[in-house]
Amino acid sequence: MDAATLAPEAAFGDGSGEAGPLPRKRTVQVDVDGVKVGGDAPIVVQSMTNTDTADVDSTVAQVAALARAGSEIVRITVDRPEAAAAVPHIRERLERRGIRVPLVGDFHYIGHKLLADHPACAEALAKYRINPGNVGFKDKRDKQFGAIVELAARHGKAVRIGVNWGSLDQELLTALMDENAASARPRTAAAILREAIIRSAILSAERAEEIGLGRDRIILSAKVSQVQDLIAVYRDLARRCDYALHLGLTEAGMGSKGIVASSAALSVLLQEGIGDTIRISLTPEPGGDRTLEVKVAQEILQTMGFRTFLPVVAACPGCGRTTSTVFQELAKSIEAHIGERMPVWRETYPGVEKLKVAVMGCIVNGPGESKHADIGISLPGTGESPSAPVFIDGAKALTLRGPNIAAEFKALVEDYIERRFGGGKDAAPANPASDAA
Ligand code: SF4
Repeated sequence: MDAATLAPEAAFGDGSGEAGPLPRKRTVQVDVDGVKVGGDAPIVVQSMTNTDTADVDSTVAQVAALARAGSEIVRITVDRPEAAAAVPHIRERLERRGIRVPLVGDFHYIGHKLLADHPACAEALAKYRINPGNVGFKDKRDKQFGAIVELAARHGKAVRIGVNWGSLDQELLTALMDENAASARPRTAAAILREAIIRSAILSAERAEEIGLGRDRIILSAKVSQVQDLIAVYRDLARRCDYALHLGLTEAGMGSKGIVASSAALSVLLQEGIGDTIRISLTPEPGGDRTLEVKVAQEILQTMGFRTFLPVVAACPGCGRTTSTVFQELAKSIEAHIGERMPVWRETYPGVEKLKVAVMGCIVNGPGESKHADIGISLPGTGESPSAPVFIDGAKALTLRGPNIAAEFKALVEDYIERRFGGGKDAAPANPASDAA
């Protein structure tokens, strides 16, 4: 199907002819200790630690790393008294390091007890995450859910009601299955499962409101592990309520599989204006870097044009026209350099995240792509003369030659950043074409 046969709003965002997402679905904004989620706030990036929360040193180190990578909210497990007792110390240690990132406590089964027994934990957290399927069983479930919500209301905290299909309320699911079996036009088991997930989230949120928690303190999530199911669940959830929505594909998996599955699911929903905060649930390699989930979340939002976090380095994929690896090495080293310097640059060079750099392998697309960047280089392909034209703000500025092209180009990038963003000067694109690239 080509663009001409699609509905105008599907082909052209809001129907105005501009490329872009559908208008954002308006939700009730929630303030998570200064970080706004929903309403007209930017889509928030969040993450979760995998340390033992009772181990204060490790948890502080990982929260700090996630926050430094750009996580705007960090969730920690609070699974037992030792973990609950550690939370205020974690908060205090982070404050001492100047890290203000709001902490979310992830509770299952005994959250009501942990929060009641550890008021300093209840106070130190910015938000409590409750899974309605894991609050307790039978008549205890309502009582324990109510107790957590009352504590949240008393401490002025937000709550995420996070349904997960792996721990869905079985009583609700059984009731819906029975109702469906008796229906004249029964739906598929998969459709009933999705309905149970959505209903569990909405009914729990309504119950929280009845208990006294404001709508502006409630965020919903309804996570499943299959991309198409996730899209269907959130489309329906967004249509049926206006609570702020937390998006995430649960158990997305490791490596490229997890990244691709999360990106595919979340991109479709974000494009439809659904989602106020995102978390990418990647399974790290043993000893792997937990901050990868933050990087992926940022890259999804930046690639789709919702937010800007880091300078973009455009590089061609390479092909038979260049047998040299110089352009790959240069693109990689510039990206690594930017990643390392960004925590400082963010402070020193406001607006630097809008920078666009191009590193191209040969003359076919090199000059054209470089002109669309703020600063770009077209390296010599196989058989081309060993010279590399550099384009700054859309015009050819100079040509680099000899064995030190890479180092000289990096120095030019540094100079450009200093000139354009130094001292909080011009953060607007000096090259208008780079904004359209
Ligand atoms: S710019 Fe040149 S080297 Fe890079 S992909 Fe295109 S043709 Fe190949």
